[in-house]
Amino acid sequence: MDRDNARYMKDEYLKIIKTYLGQLQTAHTPDISPAIQRYTQNSNLKSLSFFYDTLLKRSTFLDYGIPKKPIVGYFCNLVPEEVIYAAGAVGVRLCSSDDVCARLGEEIIPGDFCSMIKSSCGALFTRRYDNLDLVVVPAACDGKLKLAEVLSPFKEVYFLDFPRDSDYLKNAEIWTQKYSQFAEFLRKRYNARVNREDLLNACKLTNKRTDIFRKIYSLRASHPGIINAFDYFAIASASFVCEANIWSAYAEKLYKEAQYLAGNKPDFKGKKILLAGSSIIFPNYKILDILNELGCDISADTTCSAYGRMYDPVEIDEDTQDGILRALSLKYIAASMCPCFLGIDKLIDRIVEIFREHSLNGIIYHNLRLCQVFEMQSFALRHILKDKGLPFLFIKTDLSKEDTGQIKTRIEAFLEMMR
Ligand code: SF4
Ligand code: SF4
Repeated sequence: MDRDNARYMKDEYLKIIKTYLGQLQTAHTPDISPAIQRYTQNSNLKSLSFFYDTLLKRSTFLDYGIPKKPIVGYFCNLVPEEVIYAAGAVGVRLCSSDDVCARLGEEIIPGDFCSMIKSSCGALFTRRYDNLDLVVVPAACDGKLKLAEVLSPFKEVYFLDFPRDSDYLKNAEIWTQKYSQFAEFLRKRYNARVNREDLLNACKLTNKRTDIFRKIYSLRASHPGIINAFDYFAIASASFVCEANIWSAYAEKLYKEAQYLAGNKPDFKGKKILLAGSSIIFPNYKILDILNELGCDISADTTCSAYGRMYDPVEIDEDTQDGILRALSLKYIAASMCPCFLGIDKLIDRIVEIFREHSLNGIIYHNLRLCQVFEMQSFALRHILKDKGLPFLFIKTDLSKEDTGQIKTRIEAFLEMMR
């Protein structure tokens, strides 16, 4: 059976699950306003308010403020947003790392499961999925695979299945075919064209976003602290729920304001850290809070909520429909540093390249507890980076605040070692 867009449960079983879930209480949406207020006060930039407002307004996910367009929720960086735009819909990335939602998710998912999956399930109880027309789940880790099944009683789920090997030459044709089937599915669903021109226009939208994101990324690395790490990940998290053209317009304003400040601010005296590993998504800022308290700046990252999401452009060699879809697969899958795919070399190469290019001081690899794939690759990273003389610290944590003191002590020792 081709699992793409398959039904994952018999009607009879779905009915039982729906009845049970109907009895569960809808929970209150977590209140993120105290966090918004706190980080807004920490910010140097007035134009940041748009991004924090976006996070606040969309935090209920009940009103995306997107008139008359179907909203397609998706997980991960492996789903091509451009195909969703080309179908006249808007993509909203649903990856969540909200601790309140993770605890709600334990109604459905075992407690000793990755908090990203629990949080994504818990979001169901806050009615975050109500306005979505469809949910797209890619074949990343096993948790994501089962998430497709768990969400299917609530929403139609499109499952994007591909080989978990990021070798472009070996897999480009399969990925292109999978993206083409996805485009065909959206074409029928939304009675849309999704032709070459629509795809090209959508690529222009996301490439514009990449242009401005790259400028911000490089300004942060060369002038630490102007756009601090809290702001940076708020900008990135806002891109999950904001149309690319609107995000780009506000990000351009922000960049201009930051550029102006960069000429007038004293030099940064703390350590410049590269953050790799599990995503940072607002409001899960525990690691950022600790580093800020210790006077460091995360001046660069490779996480899939920020760098991994927006740094790579779509590079089209052949502007036929298949050529564009192939270019999308290169951007989203072949270049992906997702640990669910074979091919850790590119993550190590990127870390070394970014570290040297921006003269950083150390690397912190953030591992969300119970995520085996991120944890398993830490062994290779630790030894290879050590061999190259790059200071490396592995931190395993979850969404709770209980281990804050312990992590702080370990980072202090790491900073001490770098002196
Ligand atoms: S790292 Fe991989 S599994 Fe995790 S959110 Fe990113 S693309 Fe998905
Ligand atoms: S890759 Fe890891 S963090 Fe991401 S959903 Fe899977 S288990 Fe969770």
